[in-house]
Amino acid sequence: MRPPFEPPLRALMGPGPSDAHPAVLRAMAAPLIGHLDPRFIDAMNEVKAMLQAVLRTKNELTFALSAPASAGMEMCLVNLLEPGDDAVVCVNGVFGGRMSDIVERCGARLSRVDVPWGRPVLPDDLAPVLERVRPKLVAVVHAETSTGVRTPLEPLSELAHAAGALFVVDAVTSVAGIDVRSDDWRIDALYSGSQKCLSAPPGLSPVTFGPAAMEAVRRRATKVQSWFLDVTLLAGYVAGGAGRVYHHTAPVAALLALHEALRLVLAEGLEARFERHRRHHERLREGLEGLGLRYVVEPQYRLPQLNLVWVPEGVNEAAVRRELLDTYGIEIGGGLGEFAGRAWRIGLMGGSCTLGHVDRLLAALHRLLR
Ligand code: PLP
Repeated sequence: MRPPFEPPLRALMGPGPSDAHPAVLRAMAAPLIGHLDPRFIDAMNEVKAMLQAVLRTKNELTFALSAPASAGMEMCLVNLLEPGDDAVVCVNGVFGGRMSDIVERCGARLSRVDVPWGRPVLPDDLAPVLERVRPKLVAVVHAETSTGVRTPLEPLSELAHAAGALFVVDAVTSVAGIDVRSDDWRIDALYSGSQKCLSAPPGLSPVTFGPAAMEAVRRRATKVQSWFLDVTLLAGYVAGGAGRVYHHTAPVAALLALHEALRLVLAEGLEARFERHRRHHERLREGLEGLGLRYVVEPQYRLPQLNLVWVPEGVNEAAVRRELLDTYGIEIGGGLGEFAGRAWRIGLMGGSCTLGHVDRLLAALHRLLR
């Protein structure tokens, strides 16, 4: 017989997942109930209401997709795009690149707005492309986890709507860490992830579709090529009310964990939560700069929850990360793309955004970089 798998205890300070509150973990260990049990339907209705509050939207079609955030990304794009449609994707890191790939797999005509990694996408980057193409949608990543950059959404939303396009947002790393205002910023479709600043286990993707996006889905001439991700088929199960009918067997335990995580987010209060992320980011920044480390991103576009810093000259990036994990039990992330081997990604997301985490990491880095 194999022994049971015992995961080591870690402080999760990478690009996600983040540390989940013990109450969230306990929720997953509760006895299983059926996914159409009236009590579970109640819990799903509460998840919907709490997601509407956290995403700041009144959209009826707001739900947690039973799949990781990449599926949330795919769900938004496969429902809104048909072969031959034009789509503009803003790319300033890994995840804009992933959206571009999905757009092409939908058979849509892709126009990329490529911006150097480490910079936000600004209106001057998008505007010239919208003079050339009249796309069905413009897609952008709010918080680029590969670079730690926040792209201000409002001006891009204005440009997209002025061009008659839908505005689609990746808010995987931003939700519950910095402000996300789906309705005020006129976001037509948005997806997030459970494992970042929401601090639930990975594997669920909060998604919201607004009225204009639903209208575009209704006007499709062709079937969505994915059965599982077709939002019109899923709506009867996820949209709420007493009329939830079988679509697939929901991951009951994961949804109850998300329920508890959302409850904790709203009990803390969104503004207080954003302020906590900002405050502990400042302390981390002071400490890292005290150790001689420099940030890659300009201060006004830095994400408090994802800190990209250059690895000092002569330091082995991977060796330090490994030592942090093995000796100190701390996970941080390495750089991606052009930052691979040259930068670290330090996450302060949700349950991992505490003074204790910050000071523990700084003390370990102090020893390792001495
Ligand atoms: N988008 C962003 C900005 C992300 O950071 C991630 C994951 O790190 C994803 C999408 C994909 O999420 P998942 O790994 O849950 O599929």
